[in-house]
Amino acid sequence: MSQAIKKVVIAGGGTAGWMTAAALSKLMGGQIEVTLVESESIGTIGVGEATIPTLVFFHRLLGIDEAEFLRETQGTYKLGIRFENWRDVGKDYTHAFGVTGKDCWACGFQHFWMRARQLGLAEDFGEYCLERRAAEAHKFSHLPNIGLNYAFHMDASRYAAYLRKFSEGFGVQRVEGKIDQVQLHPHNGYIRALKLDSGQEVAGDFFIDCTGMRALLIEKALHTGYESWSHWLPCDSAVAVQTEAVEPPVPFTRSIAHESAWQWRIPLQNRVGNGLVYAGSYQSDESAREQLLENIRGKTLTDPLLIKFQTGRRRKQWHKNCLAVGLSSGFLEPLESTSIHLIQQNIVRFLRFFPQTEIHPREVDEFNRQCAFDMERIRDFIILHYKVTDRDDTEFWRHCRQMEIPDTLAAKIDMFRETGHVFREANELFVDSWQQVMLGQGLMPERYHPLVDSMSEQELAGFIQQIKRGVDQQVASLKDHNDYLANFVGGASKSHS
Ligand code: FAD
Repeated sequence: MSQAIKKVVIAGGGTAGWMTAAALSKLMGGQIEVTLVESESIGTIGVGEATIPTLVFFHRLLGIDEAEFLRETQGTYKLGIRFENWRDVGKDYTHAFGVTGKDCWACGFQHFWMRARQLGLAEDFGEYCLERRAAEAHKFSHLPNIGLNYAFHMDASRYAAYLRKFSEGFGVQRVEGKIDQVQLHPHNGYIRALKLDSGQEVAGDFFIDCTGMRALLIEKALHTGYESWSHWLPCDSAVAVQTEAVEPPVPFTRSIAHESAWQWRIPLQNRVGNGLVYAGSYQSDESAREQLLENIRGKTLTDPLLIKFQTGRRRKQWHKNCLAVGLSSGFLEPLESTSIHLIQQNIVRFLRFFPQTEIHPREVDEFNRQCAFDMERIRDFIILHYKVTDRDDTEFWRHCRQMEIPDTLAAKIDMFRETGHVFREANELFVDSWQQVMLGQGLMPERYHPLVDSMSEQELAGFIQQIKRGVDQQVASLKDHNDYLANFVGGASKSHS
């Protein structure tokens, strides 16, 4: 393709479509024309309500006002995820967004903590993490220089509507209609236009496939291929339902493991999002629906929605003049709330790679390599929760303990078990999270770094206590989450950077 991209067409208006439209129109609006086609009769998937801290930066990039966003989406703050019954029935831990303790130049805090623990000088690992402690205390405040790492819970439908308004303000043209056909250029197989069932044609230079699991452009038209990871992640179904709120929202997501499933609970200002993710080969749809309805609180506001999925990734996220964003690009179950993060990664990466004149295959290959790396590392992190567990009470959990895992994950687990080390590879998303989840799931390293022994017991005790005192003081200075939220959303917004 030898012409500059002037007209971008986005197919689909769910979270992916409108996040893409918002970013392209705000950041490149003067240079390109953006059109979005969506079908109200098809609708959106209607789930995807927990996020991770990278969304805060995406919003800052777009200049989105946080108070307005929270107001419009009935959003709440999120400091982490509480994993209940994952290590074993009755055992809980929290994967919080912050850093635990204090690393030194040679090794991570976990090495100091391990020796202190052996000597009876330390409490649970999570006691030294501000975000975890604040979550448990139901507290929140904005601290200078993002001293408290946070993300959001939000209403997915309201978020898409909010971003639609935002994008239209920056000139995005919305076309209502059902895409009937994807027309290709006969000479190179690039997409030429979308033909709607009304007969209207929407032509463009570049197309972004945000049609969700249908993947109308990237797969149905361009046959890009899909790499399935279902042999590593046994869950392939979900049932979701919304309920009335019966208590003030807590600043964390709950993830509750069951016999062959896990359940999410996402608190918004006005309601709660609930769902059960399960493996169809271990649990029927009907029993999953019953289990979910038995384990929720408050009146249901919607009928239970059944969703089937195949975990994996599109072999190429960018193929010819088409980029897949959102569910069309692949799917990882929502255990660590990473899908919206992957949406924004694809958008921001696309802007970085935005073709100046023509599409270069070398750049497209590099783009796809980076996307594959991101997804594979997140995939490994999710598999970790299933694989490293003491649970053996059901066939499902016994299968998870014994199943094969990717070599990359096996190497990380072995390294942690043998040495207590976790090393960040390239720009992988999770860093401190690995220690938190491995320890939380019951994987205790066999030894700690020898440098720790150069401290006397007294010095070590002083070091550990000093960190704990610092966290105690910070937690005490925070406000009640619900009061803070009500005040922030109701009051004037301000910048927190
Ligand atoms: P969709 O919402 O399905 O949107 C597709 C769009 O394409 C719609 O506008 C539709 O109308 C349009 N469309 C489709 N076909 C046509 C056609 N023929 N003509 C015109 N328009 C068409 N992510 C998180 O980050 N956090 C979570 O907590 C989380 N929880 C999840 C729970 C479950 C059970 C599932 C399945 C996913 C979850 N996700 C989560 C993922 C998240 O829901 C998605 O990443 C997000 O909603 C983006 O979806 P989408 O926009 O790609 O697709």
